[in-house]
Amino acid sequence: MAYTVPKLTDYSAAALDTATRDLLAALDHESAAVKTESEYETLRIRWRARKDGIVTQVNELWLKSAPREAKRDVGQRVNETIISRVDTVLRERHDYVKSLAILKKARAEGLDAGIDAARRAAELSESVDISLPGVRRPIGAEHPVMQTWREIVSVFQKLGYSVAEGPVVETDYYNFEALNFPPNHPARDTQDTLFIAGQQAKPQRERLLLRTHTSPVQIRTMERMRPPIRIVIPGTVHRNDPPDASHSPMFHQIEGLAVDINITFGDLKGTLDHAMKALFGSSVKTHFRPSFFPFTEPSAELYVTCFICGGGGKRGPDDAPCRPCKQTGWIEVLGCGMVDPNVFEFVKDNGYDPKKVSGFAFGMGVDRLALLKYGVDDLQYFFQGDVRFLQQFA
Ligand SMILES: [Zn+2]
Repeated sequence: MAYTVPKLTDYSAAALDTATRDLLAALDHESAAVKTESEYETLRIRWRARKDGIVTQVNELWLKSAPREAKRDVGQRVNETIISRVDTVLRERHDYVKSLAILKKARAEGLDAGIDAARRAAELSESVDISLPGVRRPIGAEHPVMQTWREIVSVFQKLGYSVAEGPVVETDYYNFEALNFPPNHPARDTQDTLFIAGQQAKPQRERLLLRTHTSPVQIRTMERMRPPIRIVIPGTVHRNDPPDASHSPMFHQIEGLAVDINITFGDLKGTLDHAMKALFGSSVKTHFRPSFFPFTEPSAELYVTCFICGGGGKRGPDDAPCRPCKQTGWIEVLGCGMVDPNVFEFVKDNGYDPKKVSGFAFGMGVDRLALLKYGVDDLQYFFQGDVRFLQQFA
C-alpha cells in the first residue's frame, strides 16, 4: 500500500522518531523502483510538489499543528532530516535515471565506448548507498574564555602594546626571585604552587614549577629588549587550588607592562581607565584602592562600577540585590602598580636603571572576567567541555 503522511497526535521524541523513520523508509522504497525519466517525474511530483506533495503535507500535518513547545523540535526535524534527505535522494535518483538513459541510447547505437562510459556512470550512482544517513559536521565556535582573552588583548594592541609569551614550566628564579618575592613568601609553599617532582638536589632558583602568574614573562622580555617597552602577556597559569565555583588549578591571566622614562602613576590610571571603558562600555567609572604586591610599589586594586547593576547595587523592577558586586556597586577587576625598583635591579644591565626608567604593570584573571561578563556562576562550567553549556556562547 502506498505511503500516506499520518496525522500526529503524539509529539514525543520517540513518536517523532518513528514517524520520520517510516517516511524515509517509504522514500527509499519508492525511489529504488524508479528507472525512467517519466517515473522519476512522478516520484518528484509525489514528494516535492508545492501543492499536496508529501513534504508540503508534512509541513501542514506535523509542523503547523504541533503544540507550541514541540514546534522547534519538529521544525528542526522537518528541515534538517526530512527535506534535506528527500532532496538528496531525488537528486541522486535523477542522476541514476539519466545514466541509464545514456546507456540505453548507446546500446541502441552500438557504440561500445559509449556503453562502457555510461555503464561506469550508472555503476557509480548505484554504488552510493542512498539509504545511509549523511554525516553532519557542526561548525565550532570560540570558547567564551578565549573570546574574552582576545577582546582584552586587542584593547591593548590598539594602544600600541605588543603580545609577549613565555614558558608555562618556569624556574623559581623567574616566577619568584626576580619578582622580589622574599625567600619564605607563602606563595613559594607547595600549599600554593605546583612544583615539578625530583628538583630537590638543585639550588632553589633553578627548581622547576608551573608558573603561578604570567609575570615571569615581564622579566624575560626585559632581559631581551631594552626600554622603552609596552607588552601585554596572555597565558595559562597554575595554582595548587582544588576546583570549585571560583577556583581552578589552571586558569588564564593577562598582564601588561609599560617601561619608559617618566612613566607615572597618572599614566597607569589613564591607560587602565581607557581599557576598562573599551571593555565594559564608556559609562563605567574606575576606582583605585591601595593594595600590596611584592613586585610593584605603590600597588593598587582597580574597581569598576558594576556592569550588571550599573553601580546601584540593585537589579530589576523589584530592586533585587545584585550578586556579582555583592550590592556594593563596584567590582574588583585587576591588580596593578608601579614596577618596584628592586625588580629593575635584576635587569639593570639591559638599560633598566631604576634611577632612569620607571614603569607600571597590571594583571587580571581572564576566566573571572568571562564569568562576570556572561553572568555564569560556576567557573567549572568553562572547563568541563559540555557542548550544551558552551553552545550558548556560539
Ligand atoms: Zn552590581
